[in-house]
Amino acid sequence: MGGEGAARRDNAALVAWMRRLAGTIREHEAELTGLDAAIGDGDHGANLARGFNKVEQKLEAEAPGTPAALFRLVGMTLIGTVGGASGPLYGTFFLEAGKAAGAEAELDAAALARCLAAGLAGVRMRGKAEAGEKTMVDALTPAIEVLGRGGSLAEASAAARAGAEATAPLIARKGRASYLGERAIGHVDPGAASSALLIGSLAEAG
Ligand code: ADP
Ligand code: MG
Repeated sequence: MGGEGAARRDNAALVAWMRRLAGTIREHEAELTGLDAAIGDGDHGANLARGFNKVEQKLEAEAPGTPAALFRLVGMTLIGTVGGASGPLYGTFFLEAGKAAGAEAELDAAALARCLAAGLAGVRMRGKAEAGEKTMVDALTPAIEVLGRGGSLAEASAAARAGAEATAPLIARKGRASYLGERAIGHVDPGAASSALLIGSLAEAG
């Protein structure tokens, strides 16, 4: 492990990230649901809580021994339990991150950045989404850019939060919120908000 804020995570720290994320999602479940109620169908908090509670249960039973196996377990579990648009997208994020982890026992800063970038590329491909379309991509992209240029996880987390906030004035181009046209303006995208929690819990755990 590196010092505080260093973007280096061994397997135990990545397991701790997933546990922390499960707790964070539970804490913010009502808030995520509220955001989705405003511009979607009000299930985003419940969807993610269901998925990450299941992840937590599986990790309780037996935590995988490598980052690749961990991310694969998380991805498969999310795809199997979350539902909605976000289930396959977050599932793809972790499956692709797991592929990029290779056989590494521990992810140094560059490897972690590479894995998360692979996850984001998977989301973009699966969702056919680009930055600026008012989705989770808008929080993930700036955070992963920060890590790509050697920034700390704390800086990445701040970038993700700013990216999520910056979705408010946008018109949604993907997902249910896109049906609303200009009525989506003024609301933060729920998936961007949950992505900021995902990066935030990575910064906090470890
Ligand atoms: P659903 O919209 O099916 O109810 P959720 O409420 O769980 O699913 O997730 C909604 C979130 O998923 C949105 O806020 C947005 O961030 C994300 N999303 C939806 N469609 C796409 C897409 N095509 N690409 C990227 N993200 C998307
Ligand atoms: Mg929804």
